[in-house]
Amino acid sequence: MTQHFLLSAASKTLKLKDIYQGGEDAAYAKFCTLRWPENDGEAVCPRCGCCDAYSIKSRRKFECKACKHHFSVTSGTIFASRKLSFMDILAAICILANAAKGLSSVQLSRDLGVQYRTAFVLAHKVREATATETKETILDDECEIDGAYFGGAVRPHNIEAKRVDRRLKENRSPKRRVVIALRERNGRTLTKVARREAEGVEFAMERLDRTARLNADEAAHWDELEAIFPLKRINHSEAYSLNGACTNQAESYFSRLRRMVGGQHHHVSAQYLHQYAAHAAWLADHCRESNGALANRIVRNAMTAPVSRQWKGYWQRHAA
Ligand SMILES: [Zn+2]
Repeated sequence: MTQHFLLSAASKTLKLKDIYQGGEDAAYAKFCTLRWPENDGEAVCPRCGCCDAYSIKSRRKFECKACKHHFSVTSGTIFASRKLSFMDILAAICILANAAKGLSSVQLSRDLGVQYRTAFVLAHKVREATATETKETILDDECEIDGAYFGGAVRPHNIEAKRVDRRLKENRSPKRRVVIALRERNGRTLTKVARREAEGVEFAMERLDRTARLNADEAAHWDELEAIFPLKRINHSEAYSLNGACTNQAESYFSRLRRMVGGQHHHVSAQYLHQYAAHAAWLADHCRESNGALANRIVRNAMTAPVSRQWKGYWQRHAA
């Protein structure tokens, strides 16, 4: 029997133990290396692009020799104004990279020994940073499109006689959303949160190159795509895969997202569903990479992602 990838030594290249034994300087050096790879980890002024800077070592700050601008390794990035140590941020990234089905903020806060609200914002910043990988991606090969509904579960009434038919539209919660996945076989997974699955038609037109080939199920709204892309249809009441047509890769992505929402987050609001959806897509797309490679990816994404409009100062704006 072949060994599952996650059980192999190749999947484990980073240990929490090493992060904490390495200390703050080593963690800081990793952020510098991944922020300025083109300059061998030496500071580059974010304002003027000058590669020469004085290092104010005691404060881990730099002063640009050309324009005198003061900056740090996280200036202008999603980790700007960080309060946690680089070691703790790196440990959080390692823990999140290890969690193949995502991780609740409660658990992260326990692992790191930080407040829940700190872990909540940190995890969301990581999700936002990783989502930037596919922000501009256009798929051009064999793809699958499908949608799955999340959230807004209606609890059946205690008294049997008062229970309603939850399949009917009028009995559904307005909080329900559909996650639409556009997944390239052996490629990337793009996601969108919408109210109706039919909104996926527009999504496909935006994110697919005209050379792409598409697989979809029997839902009538996908008919529109037939005029634009070679479209294979699969009727799930007949088979999951027939004559080369299937949406199994998209289904496999939804399976991961369902386990993430059901097993870790339990309750996901419509407002943040797009971040969990993108995170699950990122995990699915990189599931064959070692945890060390995943952690490096997250740091690199975070060092190139701009300051978050949604998560910077979140708790100042949302006083509990
Ligand atoms: Zn400068």
